[in-house]
Order: sequence, then structure tokens, then C-alpha cells
Amino acid sequence: MKILIPEQSIRARVADLGSSIARDYEDRRLTILGVLTGSIVLLADLIRAIDLPLRVGLIQVSSYSGRATVPGELTINDKLVPDLTGRDVLLVDDIFDTGRTIASLYDRINSFRPRSLRSAVLLWKENRCEVDLTPDYHGFRIPNRFVVGYGLDYDDEYRHLPYIAVLEEADIDDG
Ligand code: IMP
Ligand code: MG
Repeated sequence: MKILIPEQSIRARVADLGSSIARDYEDRRLTILGVLTGSIVLLADLIRAIDLPLRVGLIQVSSYSGRATVPGELTINDKLVPDLTGRDVLLVDDIFDTGRTIASLYDRINSFRPRSLRSAVLLWKENRCEVDLTPDYHGFRIPNRFVVGYGLDYDDEYRHLPYIAVLEEADIDDG
């Protein structure tokens, strides 16, 4: 597997993102909402880099391609979402690819009447956007390659890698 973004680069960039977010949300009522499962590593590192009082919540999104649902249809579980009324919400996810996941999460979260809603992602894939939305904070722009690590998975594996790596055909065959 070829390492695209090493651990030290991620650590430095997440620290910068935390400082920017802390500056932008000073004196606001910040709730960080992590998207399960891909955001867990970024979420854990990012919240410790934001030197502000804040709350943390979780929202789950799954895509099903089974017979019972339309392929690519997203199912959102908001049972773990805390009260967002009047809060400044920052949605945290691993990657912005087509943007469809974040766009549908925005619709759901806005129904809880937050004071504001923005998004932060570690990775933003170039030239893939299919929605009228871009992430407010991002760690790195990356080419259109399938990557794993630092929360991102292939078939629910590789999330624990401390770096971002490009998954090659050979890696899949070996598995
Ligand atoms: P979007 O809705 O197209 O923006 O896709 C976002 C979701 O697709 C992410 O939360 C990931 O779960 C998944 N995804 C997109 N690209 C990759 C990748 O390169 N590696 C692993 N997961 C990816
Ligand atoms: Mg995912």
C-alpha cells in the first residue's frame, strides 16, 4: 500500500484545523457532530485540538444496496444526536467525495433548527462534487483515488491505520 499522507502531516494539519475552528467559534455554543463510522479517528484528534468549551454528538449514515432499497440510498440514524436547537453545529466526516452524504446530513440536521451548520472533513476529492455545497474546513485535497486509513475503510477494514494510503488492486486481491 502506498502512503499518500503520512501520520506526522495529518497531525500537523489537524492541529491547524483545530486552531482555525477555535478562532472562528470563540464565544459560540459549539457542538461537534461526528459521522459514524469514518469520522471517529479525526473526531478524537480534532476535538482535542479545539481549545474551546464544546459538546460532542454522533450521527450515523449507512448506504444500502440491498434489494429492499434503491442503490446508493442513504439511511440516517439520528438517535444519538443531542439537542441542537440554537447550537452552532460543526459536522465532521472523513471525506467529501461526491458530497451527497454531507448534503443529506445537512437536510436532516437543519430540521433540528441549529443556529448554524458547517462541515469539516479530513479529505476532499478533486473534481467529484455533485452537490451545491463544499466543505467549510478540510485537511487535504486529494486526487480521485480510493484511500484508506485514519478512519476510512475498505469493507470495514484499514480504519485503524494512522496514515492515509492508496488502496491498490493487489491489496484487495491479497485480502
Ligand atoms: P460522498 O457522499 O460521495 O461524499 O461520499 C462520502 C462517503 O463515501 C465517505 O464518508 C466514505 O464513507 C465513502 N468514501 C468516498 N471515497 C472514499 C475513499 O476513497 N475511501 C474510503 N471511503 C470513501
Ligand atoms: Mg464511510
